[in-house]
Amino acid sequence: MLNGKVAVITGASRGIGAAIAEKFSSQGVNVAIIYNGNEEAANIVKANAEKQGVRAEIYKCNVAKSEECKETVKAITETFGGIDILVNNAGITRDNLLISMSDEEFDACLNTNLKGCFNMIKACSRNFIKRKYGKIINISSVSALLGTAGQANYSSSKAGVIALTKVTAREFASKNVCCNAIAPGFVTTDMTKDLKSEEYLKLIPLKRLGKPEDIANLATFLADDISDYITGEVIRIDGGLAI
Ligand code: NDP
Repeated sequence: MLNGKVAVITGASRGIGAAIAEKFSSQGVNVAIIYNGNEEAANIVKANAEKQGVRAEIYKCNVAKSEECKETVKAITETFGGIDILVNNAGITRDNLLISMSDEEFDACLNTNLKGCFNMIKACSRNFIKRKYGKIINISSVSALLGTAGQANYSSSKAGVIALTKVTAREFASKNVCCNAIAPGFVTTDMTKDLKSEEYLKLIPLKRLGKPEDIANLATFLADDISDYITGEVIRIDGGLAI
């Protein structure tokens, strides 16, 4: 039962995060929409959620900064009265071959994709422990499982997200908090717009690219009570790409 729950979704201004906010709100979930720079897009997501009759607010927060995460979670808790669901979706790529990859490119991916998840989980942890309830969903990637050439930074950060998911699941299980990871394949968003999709299509058994809604449907399942006995799991959603 999702109706009336409160979800925090990072990177919800665009792509997969926006689709999750839209799907959640259609199920009666109130949504805290976190964006980094794209306020206009975040406001569109907010307006779409409100059309479903739920409460929706936008928050500017760079998830790589722990202080910003703490302040944002405090503000969300005051406004919504508590948090039931956290979706760590914010992510970036800085592709380059390992031999040419700069420290900045490596650190940027680790700081946003991995440390961002840690910062948000930590900032929300007291809320979850107090309520003895929580659903944490971390967006990883099949890149973590396959090790994609040109993505030493991104694949490493997303593999770290899987380890963080398992640790969180173990540490929070006694508080009735579940933590799972989603590992999407190729999904059509701004992040993948410059990639050669025809090349990926050849590798995908289901012969289509992923849609943000595909990922949103899985996130909805993991956020719902019907998945209450699943924790510490990593679910691939990639049309068979990484079979
Ligand atoms: P997009 O590039 O379309 O959107 C990225 C989102 O993350 C935006 O909302 C952006 O905010 C936000 N964001 C980026 N950096 C930060 C930051 N430092 N703090 C807060 N928010 C930030 O990405 P996708 O929708 O494609 O990807 C969403 C997630 O799914 C990512 O974690 C990605 O790694 C993962 N993924 C995507 C795949 C794909 O094929 N698209 C495949 C596998 C995993 P703003 O708009 O304000 O800049």
